[in-house]
Amino acid sequence: MFGPQGSGKGTQAKILADRYRIPHISTGDMLRAAIAKETELGNKAKALINEGKLVPDEIVNGIVKERLAMGDCVDGYILDVYPRNLDQAKELEAFADIKYVIELHVPDDISVSRIVHRRQCKACGAIFGLDFPPKVEGVCDKCGEVLYQRDDDKEEAMKKRLAIYHEETEALIGFYSPKEIVYKVDGTMTVDEVQKALTKILG
Ligand code: AMP
Repeated sequence: MFGPQGSGKGTQAKILADRYRIPHISTGDMLRAAIAKETELGNKAKALINEGKLVPDEIVNGIVKERLAMGDCVDGYILDVYPRNLDQAKELEAFADIKYVIELHVPDDISVSRIVHRRQCKACGAIFGLDFPPKVEGVCDKCGEVLYQRDDDKEEAMKKRLAIYHEETEALIGFYSPKEIVYKVDGTMTVDEVQKALTKILG
């Protein structure tokens, strides 16, 4: 599943993972967990992520390959913006058989406006934004902890991430199109409408 920042791919991927009882594998979440634990990998990734740059392919390829080898992936999985460029897509071919590629499409202005307003809970990871604000500003509805803005959601890093998306990630459409497994979904619809469109595709 791929789409620009703020397209709702993480939200949709989580719902699909619950529905089909398969893991939601987000390289971004895995890298952020490594940063929080201050592992060697996390320390290498931290500055790159905060600046809005990509983490080197060999690092992400390694963590995804290891994750897909785990027992809970035998019946399938949802990859949330991995691969993120052509080299990663080519590497993935060696250890996975991708059945569907979903592009959640939103225009840049919506993407930027959703992201700069995005706030996340430090404790439980719940996400709030313009369309679903918290009941009390700065406080998580689910667990009462403080909400924060990711460094890479700030405007400068965000613009860099969006540029990388257009330059590198969109090239994946051309890579997967000959296999006839690419489906484009309008990410400006409501969460429920997008979910309906996705289940129509995935069955
Ligand atoms: P995300 O939460 O998916 O927006 O990812 C946050 C950041 O993690 C990205 O801006 C990259 O720095 C890094 N990252 C996540 N997935 C990848 C990937 N597949 N390849 C390289 N860097 C990644």
